[in-house]
Amino acid sequence: MTQETWARVREILKEILGANSYANWIEPLEFGGVSDGVATLEAPTTFIANYVKQNFSDLITHKLHETGAAIDRLSFSVGKPRDTKAPAKAPRAEGKNTGLDNRFTFDTFVVGKPNELAHAAARRVAEGGPVGFNPLFLHGGVGLGKTHLMHAIAHELQSRSPHLNVLYVSAEQFMYRFITALRSGNIMDFKSLFRSVDVLMVDDVQFIAGKDSTQEEFFHTFNALVDSGKQIIISADRAPGDIKDLEDRIKSRLQCGLVVDLHPTDYELRLGIMQAKAEAFKPLYPEIHLAAGVLEFLAHRISSNVRVLEGALTRLFAFASLVGRDVNLELANDCLADVIKSQDRKVTVEEIQRKVSEHYLIRLSDMLGPKRVRSFARPRQIAMYLAKNLTNRSLPEIGRRFGGRDHTTVMHGVKRIAELMQNDSQLADDIELLKRALSE
Ligand code: ADP
Ligand code: MG
Repeated sequence: MTQETWARVREILKEILGANSYANWIEPLEFGGVSDGVATLEAPTTFIANYVKQNFSDLITHKLHETGAAIDRLSFSVGKPRDTKAPAKAPRAEGKNTGLDNRFTFDTFVVGKPNELAHAAARRVAEGGPVGFNPLFLHGGVGLGKTHLMHAIAHELQSRSPHLNVLYVSAEQFMYRFITALRSGNIMDFKSLFRSVDVLMVDDVQFIAGKDSTQEEFFHTFNALVDSGKQIIISADRAPGDIKDLEDRIKSRLQCGLVVDLHPTDYELRLGIMQAKAEAFKPLYPEIHLAAGVLEFLAHRISSNVRVLEGALTRLFAFASLVGRDVNLELANDCLADVIKSQDRKVTVEEIQRKVSEHYLIRLSDMLGPKRVRSFARPRQIAMYLAKNLTNRSLPEIGRRFGGRDHTTVMHGVKRIAELMQNDSQLADDIELLKRALSE
């Protein structure tokens, strides 16, 4: 293994982890050589070393192997600190090094039912001026557009009022800067930096749960800014109340503003995003013809995570251009087998029944048995709905597997759930979650 191998793997990791995590955890690492099959990575701080070791060492080892490195394992050492002496970076550094992705604007954000509320709230905050809610708290599953919306707000605010001091950080960066400041005795700089901004955005705040001193500092920063009327925008993978190991006083602070969630994407939104993305690809790949039905196929068959969806399309175009083929269903099947396959797996009615009863904490025997109380009947109908949608079983076959029920009962259940899902977003989320769990 050589420096070049490491450089190559770093690029791959950047793709996988995204620019933020990459900058926080991988970029600070230096390759220190291999001895006896052990590759050493030097980290500037013990904290980074431990974090990378716990979270990324399997991934790094795997990617090193794929790149041809003959190593058995990784070891981490804490080398010369490269970064610790640097004071916390000014929020609006000379150039426009804001840490924002230029592609993440309102223009490129496709609005659909699952994200319309979050989008509207983000727009409102981006208009600047006094808003009725502070903080704006955006939450939702991975790859649903939280970071995109936050960057879009920042871009918009910045272009409307260039003098505004907008600081966007991931919660990891917040913690990393905080700890670096503590170590190097620059805590006052840290405090004044974070208290001097006009708008603070902290992405993926669930990350600081359980990290006591960082939480404490976050709490004080938060209060100082809110007290002086500065706008705060926070994102997390779940609602404030559901973040485990987050201090109660922080939870209640976070709930004071407007809490909006991004729901899992539905088919129409996915298709809309695919169309926009394909449009953007056209000038890049003028020679490639996109056959009808491909986008629909992808929107149907790939997960609700937009990142995965985009990745699939990117791969498809890159592959088509490489081998000089058109983008059509056949190519999609060839080239995306791994992404599509996971959804192609045959799910059985029994698996569905098991998963659903686990999810709703009822016994399997109660799901299949005769009792008609709501707490059993609803999960039963949900399981019927999933059985109808995820398997090829006919209604009578499904009925038989649900304790010998009639096919009209199944039909009624399936219809009922489909209706309820229209207005009950909690139910729609539950079902999306179950579908995902069943396709893994
Ligand atoms: P999250 O922060 O919620 O995990 P991101 O904001 O990073 O998700 O979104 C993942 C990817 O999907 C990004 O490339 C983003 O541009 C894209 N994306 C998500 N939602 C939308 C949308 N509604 N319209 C266009 N692109 C989207
Ligand atoms: Mg994000």
